[in-house]
Amino acid sequence: MLELKQISAFYGNIQALDRISIQIPEGSIVTLLGANGAGKSSTLKVISQLLPIKSGTMVYKNEDISNLEPNEIVKRRIIHCPENRQVFPKLTVEENLIIGSYLRRDKDQIKKDLSDIFSYFPILKERLKQYASTLSGGEQQMLAIGRALMGNPKVLLLDEPSLGLAPIIVNQIFEIIQEINRKGTSILLVEQNANLALRIADYGYILENGRIGLEGRAEFLRNNDEISKYYLGGK
Ligand code: ATP
Repeated sequence: MLELKQISAFYGNIQALDRISIQIPEGSIVTLLGANGAGKSSTLKVISQLLPIKSGTMVYKNEDISNLEPNEIVKRRIIHCPENRQVFPKLTVEENLIIGSYLRRDKDQIKKDLSDIFSYFPILKERLKQYASTLSGGEQQMLAIGRALMGNPKVLLLDEPSLGLAPIIVNQIFEIIQEINRKGTSILLVEQNANLALRIADYGYILENGRIGLEGRAEFLRNNDEISKYYLGGK
Protein backbone atom coordinates (compact mmCIF):
# COMPACT_ATOMS: atom_id res chain seq x y z
CA MET A 1 0.00 0.00 0.00
CA LEU A 2 1.13 3.51 -0.91
CA GLU A 3 0.05 6.35 1.31
CA LEU A 4 0.41 10.12 1.07
CA LYS A 5 -0.13 11.91 4.36
CA GLN A 6 -0.77 15.65 4.43
CA ILE A 7 1.49 16.37 1.47
CA SER A 8 2.12 19.95 0.36
CA ALA A 9 4.20 20.98 -2.65
CA PHE A 10 5.11 24.21 -4.44
CA TYR A 11 6.40 25.50 -7.77
CA GLY A 12 8.40 28.46 -6.49
CA ASN A 13 5.81 30.52 -4.63
CA ILE A 14 2.85 28.77 -6.21
CA GLN A 15 1.31 26.15 -3.98
CA ALA A 16 0.22 23.19 -6.10
CA LEU A 17 -0.75 20.78 -3.31
CA ASP A 18 -2.18 21.65 0.07
CA ARG A 19 -2.05 18.86 2.66
CA ILE A 20 -3.41 16.09 0.52
CA SER A 21 -3.84 12.58 1.90
CA ILE A 22 -4.33 9.65 -0.45
CA GLN A 23 -4.22 5.88 -0.08
CA ILE A 24 -3.60 3.37 -2.83
CA PRO A 25 -4.30 -0.07 -1.38
CA GLU A 26 -2.46 -2.97 -2.94
CA GLY A 27 -4.26 -4.31 -6.00
CA SER A 28 -6.64 -1.37 -6.38
CA ILE A 29 -7.41 1.20 -9.05
CA VAL A 30 -7.67 4.66 -7.53
CA THR A 31 -8.57 7.68 -9.61
CA LEU A 32 -7.69 11.34 -9.12
CA LEU A 33 -10.21 13.69 -10.69
CA GLY A 34 -10.61 17.44 -10.90
CA ALA A 35 -10.52 20.46 -13.17
CA ASN A 36 -7.49 21.76 -15.04
CA GLY A 37 -4.88 23.02 -12.63
CA ALA A 38 -6.42 21.26 -9.61
CA GLY A 39 -3.16 19.46 -8.85
CA LYS A 40 -3.61 16.02 -10.36
CA SER A 41 -0.34 15.89 -12.33
CA SER A 42 1.49 17.48 -9.41
CA THR A 43 0.33 14.64 -7.17
CA LEU A 44 1.88 12.08 -9.52
CA LYS A 45 5.06 14.18 -9.75
CA VAL A 46 5.34 14.28 -5.98
CA ILE A 47 5.05 10.48 -5.79
CA SER A 48 7.80 9.99 -8.37
CA GLN A 49 9.85 12.74 -6.68
CA LEU A 50 9.91 15.00 -9.76
CA LEU A 51 8.33 17.69 -7.58
CA PRO A 52 9.80 17.98 -4.08
CA ILE A 53 7.65 17.38 -1.04
CA LYS A 54 7.56 20.51 1.10
CA SER A 55 5.78 18.93 4.04
CA GLY A 56 3.96 15.71 4.84
CA THR A 57 5.08 12.11 4.42
CA MET A 58 4.85 9.38 1.86
CA VAL A 59 4.94 5.75 2.96
CA TYR A 60 5.20 2.64 0.80
CA LYS A 61 5.04 -0.82 2.34
CA ASN A 62 5.83 0.58 5.78
CA GLU A 63 8.89 2.46 4.51
CA ASP A 64 9.08 6.25 4.62
CA ILE A 65 9.92 7.18 1.03
CA SER A 66 9.42 10.95 1.41
CA ASN A 67 13.09 11.75 0.88
CA LEU A 68 14.12 9.29 -1.81
CA GLU A 69 15.61 10.22 -5.19
CA PRO A 70 13.50 9.53 -8.30
CA ASN A 71 15.60 6.47 -9.27
CA GLU A 72 15.00 4.97 -5.82
CA ILE A 73 11.27 5.34 -6.37
CA VAL A 74 11.61 3.53 -9.72
CA LYS A 75 13.62 0.77 -8.01
CA ARG A 76 10.69 0.23 -5.67
CA ARG A 77 8.65 -0.32 -8.80
CA ILE A 78 6.53 2.81 -8.54
CA ILE A 79 6.46 3.91 -12.17
CA HIS A 80 5.19 7.14 -13.70
CA CYS A 81 3.59 7.27 -17.15
CA PRO A 82 3.54 11.03 -17.78
CA GLU A 83 0.96 13.31 -19.36
CA ASN A 84 1.11 13.91 -23.13
CA ARG A 85 2.84 10.55 -23.55
CA GLN A 86 6.35 12.01 -23.75
CA VAL A 87 7.89 9.20 -25.76
CA PHE A 88 11.32 9.89 -27.27
CA PRO A 89 10.40 10.82 -30.86
CA LYS A 90 13.83 10.24 -32.38
CA LEU A 91 14.23 6.79 -30.87
CA THR A 92 12.60 3.66 -32.20
CA VAL A 93 9.73 1.90 -30.48
CA GLU A 94 12.17 -0.77 -29.34
CA GLU A 95 14.61 1.78 -27.92
CA ASN A 96 11.81 3.57 -26.09
CA LEU A 97 10.76 0.29 -24.49
CA ILE A 98 14.31 -0.65 -23.49
CA ILE A 99 14.72 2.70 -21.73
CA GLY A 100 11.85 1.70 -19.46
CA SER A 101 13.92 -1.17 -18.08
CA TYR A 102 17.15 0.77 -17.54
CA LEU A 103 17.45 0.12 -13.80
CA ARG A 104 16.74 -3.61 -14.08
CA ARG A 105 19.13 -6.55 -14.24
CA ASP A 106 16.58 -9.40 -14.33
CA LYS A 107 16.99 -10.22 -18.02
CA ASP A 108 14.57 -13.16 -18.12
CA GLN A 109 11.78 -11.21 -16.49
CA ILE A 110 12.43 -8.28 -18.86
CA LYS A 111 11.90 -10.62 -21.80
CA LYS A 112 8.67 -11.87 -20.28
CA ASP A 113 7.46 -8.32 -19.65
CA LEU A 114 8.24 -7.40 -23.24
CA SER A 115 6.19 -10.32 -24.54
CA ASP A 116 3.30 -9.32 -22.21
CA ILE A 117 3.47 -5.78 -23.64
CA PHE A 118 3.26 -7.15 -27.17
CA SER A 119 0.25 -9.22 -26.20
CA TYR A 120 -1.47 -6.09 -24.83
CA PHE A 121 -0.42 -3.91 -27.76
CA PRO A 122 0.42 -6.08 -30.81
CA ILE A 123 0.86 -2.94 -32.92
CA LEU A 124 4.05 -2.10 -30.98
CA LYS A 125 5.63 -5.33 -32.15
CA GLU A 126 4.80 -4.49 -35.76
CA ARG A 127 6.29 -1.02 -35.34
CA LEU A 128 9.35 -2.06 -33.32
CA LYS A 129 11.96 -0.53 -35.64
CA GLN A 130 10.02 2.64 -36.45
CA TYR A 131 10.76 6.00 -34.89
CA ALA A 132 8.26 6.85 -32.17
CA SER A 133 7.52 10.12 -34.00
CA THR A 134 5.89 8.13 -36.82
CA LEU A 135 3.27 6.58 -34.52
CA SER A 136 -0.32 7.83 -34.21
CA GLY A 137 -1.43 9.45 -30.93
CA GLY A 138 -3.04 6.22 -29.75
CA GLU A 139 0.05 4.19 -30.60
CA GLN A 140 2.25 6.68 -28.77
CA GLN A 141 0.04 6.32 -25.70
CA MET A 142 0.39 2.55 -25.96
CA LEU A 143 4.14 2.97 -26.21
CA ALA A 144 4.19 5.27 -23.17
CA ILE A 145 2.27 2.66 -21.16
CA GLY A 146 4.49 -0.08 -22.57
CA ARG A 147 7.60 1.80 -21.52
CA ALA A 148 6.19 2.20 -18.00
CA LEU A 149 5.42 -1.53 -17.89
CA MET A 150 9.07 -2.22 -18.72
CA GLY A 151 9.75 -0.95 -15.20
CA ASN A 152 7.71 -3.94 -13.95
CA PRO A 153 5.48 -1.70 -11.83
CA LYS A 154 3.85 -2.68 -8.56
CA VAL A 155 2.25 0.78 -8.64
CA LEU A 156 1.57 2.45 -11.97
CA LEU A 157 0.93 6.21 -12.05
CA LEU A 158 -1.03 7.01 -15.19
CA ASP A 159 -1.51 10.63 -16.22
CA GLU A 160 -4.47 11.21 -18.56
CA PRO A 161 -4.15 8.17 -20.80
CA SER A 162 -7.33 9.16 -22.68
CA LEU A 163 -6.16 12.66 -23.64
CA GLY A 164 -6.83 13.51 -27.28
CA LEU A 165 -7.64 9.95 -28.34
CA ALA A 166 -10.65 8.60 -30.25
CA PRO A 167 -13.20 6.81 -28.03
CA ILE A 168 -12.51 3.43 -29.60
CA ILE A 169 -8.80 3.67 -28.78
CA VAL A 170 -9.58 4.95 -25.30
CA ASN A 171 -11.81 1.92 -24.64
CA GLN A 172 -9.07 -0.37 -25.82
CA ILE A 173 -6.52 1.28 -23.54
CA PHE A 174 -8.88 1.18 -20.56
CA GLU A 175 -9.45 -2.55 -21.11
CA ILE A 176 -5.70 -3.06 -20.94
CA ILE A 177 -5.40 -0.90 -17.82
CA GLN A 178 -7.88 -3.22 -16.14
CA GLU A 179 -5.96 -6.27 -17.30
CA ILE A 180 -2.68 -4.85 -15.96
CA ASN A 181 -4.46 -4.30 -12.65
CA ARG A 182 -5.88 -7.85 -12.61
CA LYS A 183 -2.33 -9.14 -12.95
CA GLY A 184 -1.40 -7.46 -9.68
CA THR A 185 -0.38 -3.86 -10.40
CA SER A 186 -2.02 -1.13 -8.34
CA ILE A 187 -2.99 1.90 -10.39
CA LEU A 188 -3.30 5.60 -9.67
CA LEU A 189 -5.20 7.01 -12.61
CA VAL A 190 -5.41 10.75 -13.31
CA GLU A 191 -8.29 11.58 -15.61
CA GLN A 192 -10.28 14.51 -16.95
CA ASN A 193 -12.88 12.04 -18.11
CA ALA A 194 -14.47 11.28 -14.75
CA ASN A 195 -17.21 8.97 -15.99
CA LEU A 196 -14.70 6.80 -17.76
CA ALA A 197 -12.31 6.65 -14.81
CA LEU A 198 -15.05 5.90 -12.28
CA ARG A 199 -16.20 2.97 -14.40
CA ILE A 200 -12.97 1.09 -13.74
CA ALA A 201 -11.80 2.55 -10.42
CA ASP A 202 -12.45 1.23 -6.92
CA TYR A 203 -12.06 4.58 -5.22
CA GLY A 204 -11.83 8.23 -6.26
CA TYR A 205 -10.48 11.52 -4.98
CA ILE A 206 -11.65 14.85 -6.35
CA LEU A 207 -9.05 17.61 -6.21
CA GLU A 208 -9.96 21.27 -6.05
CA ASN A 209 -7.28 23.96 -5.96
CA GLY A 210 -4.67 21.59 -4.60
CA ARG A 211 -6.92 20.11 -1.91
CA ILE A 212 -8.99 16.99 -1.68
CA GLY A 213 -12.54 18.29 -2.07
CA LEU A 214 -14.23 14.95 -1.83
CA GLU A 215 -13.43 11.28 -1.82
CA GLY A 216 -15.34 8.02 -1.87
CA ARG A 217 -15.90 4.65 -3.41
CA ALA A 218 -16.19 4.91 -7.18
CA GLU A 219 -19.76 3.62 -7.27
CA PHE A 220 -20.78 6.27 -4.72
CA LEU A 221 -19.18 9.05 -6.75
CA ARG A 222 -20.61 7.67 -9.97
CA ASN A 223 -24.19 7.51 -8.75
CA ASN A 224 -24.40 10.79 -6.96
CA ASP A 225 -26.13 13.43 -9.11
CA GLU A 226 -24.96 16.35 -7.03
CA ILE A 227 -21.35 15.23 -7.23
CA SER A 228 -21.67 14.68 -10.91
CA LYS A 229 -23.12 18.17 -11.37
CA TYR A 230 -20.82 20.19 -9.14
CA TYR A 231 -17.57 18.32 -9.28
CA LEU A 232 -17.49 16.36 -12.46
CA GLY A 233 -19.00 18.76 -14.97
CA GLY A 234 -22.48 17.19 -15.02
CA LYS A 235 -23.92 14.83 -17.59
P1 ATP B 1 -3.89 19.60 -15.85
O1 ATP B 1 -4.94 18.63 -16.16
O2 ATP B 1 -4.08 20.92 -16.54
O3 ATP B 1 -2.49 19.07 -15.94
P2 ATP B 1 -3.68 19.27 -13.02
O4 ATP B 1 -4.86 19.03 -12.14
O5 ATP B 1 -2.83 18.10 -13.35
O6 ATP B 1 -4.14 19.98 -14.32
P3 ATP B 1 -1.28 20.51 -12.11
O7 ATP B 1 -0.61 20.42 -13.43
O8 ATP B 1 -0.88 19.57 -11.05
O9 ATP B 1 -2.84 20.40 -12.30
O10 ATP B 1 -1.14 21.99 -11.59
C1 ATP B 1 -1.45 22.43 -10.26
C2 ATP B 1 -1.07 23.90 -10.09
O11 ATP B 1 0.34 24.08 -10.23
C3 ATP B 1 -1.70 24.82 -11.11
O12 ATP B 1 -2.02 26.04 -10.45
C4 ATP B 1 -0.61 25.04 -12.12
O13 ATP B 1 -0.74 26.30 -12.75
C5 ATP B 1 0.64 24.98 -11.27
N1 ATP B 1 1.79 24.45 -12.03
C6 ATP B 1 1.85 23.25 -12.65
N2 ATP B 1 3.06 23.05 -13.23
C7 ATP B 1 3.77 24.18 -12.96
C8 ATP B 1 5.10 24.59 -13.28
N3 ATP B 1 5.94 23.83 -13.98
N4 ATP B 1 5.49 25.83 -12.85
C9 ATP B 1 4.66 26.62 -12.13
N5 ATP B 1 3.40 26.27 -11.80
C10 ATP B 1 2.95 25.08 -12.20
